[in-house]
Amino acid sequence: MNRKRVALVAGGGGFIGGHLVGDLLGRGFTVRAVDVKPEQDWYQRFDDADNQVLDLRLRDACFAAVDGVDVVYNLAADMGGMGFIENNRALCMLSVLINTHLLEAALHHRADRYFFASSACVYAAEHQTSPDVTALREADAYPAMPEDGYGWEKLFSERMCRHFREDFGLETRIARFHNVYGPHGTWRGGREKAPAAICRKVSEAARSGDHTIEIWGDGEQTRSFMYIDDCVKGIWDITESDILEPINLGSSELVTINQLVDLVEEIAGVQLQRSHDLSAPQGVRGRNSDNTMILDRLGWEPSTPLREGLDVTYRWVDEQVGASSAASAA
Ligand code: NAD
Repeated sequence: MNRKRVALVAGGGGFIGGHLVGDLLGRGFTVRAVDVKPEQDWYQRFDDADNQVLDLRLRDACFAAVDGVDVVYNLAADMGGMGFIENNRALCMLSVLINTHLLEAALHHRADRYFFASSACVYAAEHQTSPDVTALREADAYPAMPEDGYGWEKLFSERMCRHFREDFGLETRIARFHNVYGPHGTWRGGREKAPAAICRKVSEAARSGDHTIEIWGDGEQTRSFMYIDDCVKGIWDITESDILEPINLGSSELVTINQLVDLVEEIAGVQLQRSHDLSAPQGVRGRNSDNTMILDRLGWEPSTPLREGLDVTYRWVDEQVGASSAASAA
């Protein structure tokens, strides 16, 4: 009889990790979800997973977490939006301990696959100085000049995955995520990314009647945003594939931040007075994902249009805003 495959989701209490745990359970895996946060702070918690609170920067914790596991998905990292990563470079770099110790543990316990969540922040800033960007191809990561702190950690950890594969035979797979959004993720507190932050601000403005919104930068910076369901499907496809090099996983539907605000306003049925904070962190001027390689190798393309994914996300964030103001009123 076939035994069920066992997966570890490191960072299982986080946004993408939580959705991945649900997906793997649905695929019939036995899942161990591990996160450093107390369980009550996990965005999603599945009773049929083996949920453990461990600090995966510690080597012993990684060896315990990987024991008996076939596939390791490393989505654990100290991260957030631009406001967080530009002001916490050392903290972001410390995530190197998580990946290093998980790789050692995966090798020791003979895991048969290892997935690492990298980021578009590995790309050199010189390719991202204009809002009218040429989409980033995988080869653009070198010569290296990634986002300081967070991006360097991702690039170094990608490299370590590659050498564990080449030198030790561990089957590593790497995706470079471009801005993922959706429900059950960070929406306040300073680590939230643009889509969740804008949904929260629009919801608060709509509820309070103070119809103003502050936008970081002039709003003409461009990005693409990938809905969480597309991301989780892509993680599965890449992990199961024979693609050995880091590969983009993102949407190529480019929008300005102002257009993102237009969409959320339309969904919420409000129109807000905008003020632009030009001194706030904005990241690179323009960024888009070139999906030629993933389309060619896996036939993968995101299937959720931005308007549709934002609709679900806005409704979830709006519920959180409502529940939080009801709790403070009580
Ligand atoms: P998230 O912050 O929601 O999830 C990360 C989880 O890792 C958190 O729950 C956190 O508590 C956990 N973690 C941090 N340090 C830990 C430790 N020492 N031990 C155990 N757990 C620890 O972020 P996310 O958006 O779900 O991101 C998941 C991965 O994808 C990260 O590696 C991130 O860098 C990468 N990524 C995300 C995006 C995006 O747009 N969300 C873009 C590029 C890359």
